[in-house]
Amino acid sequence: MAKKVKISGRTVMNDGFIVGGYIMKKAKWKTIVDGYVRAVWVCPTCGSKVTVPPESYQDVGTPICDGGPNGDSGCEGDDMQYARTEILI
Ligand SMILES: [Zn+2]
Repeated sequence: MAKKVKISGRTVMNDGFIVGGYIMKKAKWKTIVDGYVRAVWVCPTCGSKVTVPPESYQDVGTPICDGGPNGDSGCEGDDMQYARTEILI
């Protein structure tokens, strides 16, 4: 029996149906060109934000802060925190 589960804030039936308003459709995983996807990371200390492509985590790991707008927030070199993923549509 299908159960409702929450995935990234969306209600999804565990058999793959997305439930939203009056729309109910079968969800499918699709490949998206990397250039249309970016991850947003934020510094928890100064709030600086960076956007990086999907492969950057493999290549360089967790983004680090440059110290904020003036470079003097005391967080230079600190790990940033993942915020969200965005796609260009
Ligand atoms: Zn910072």
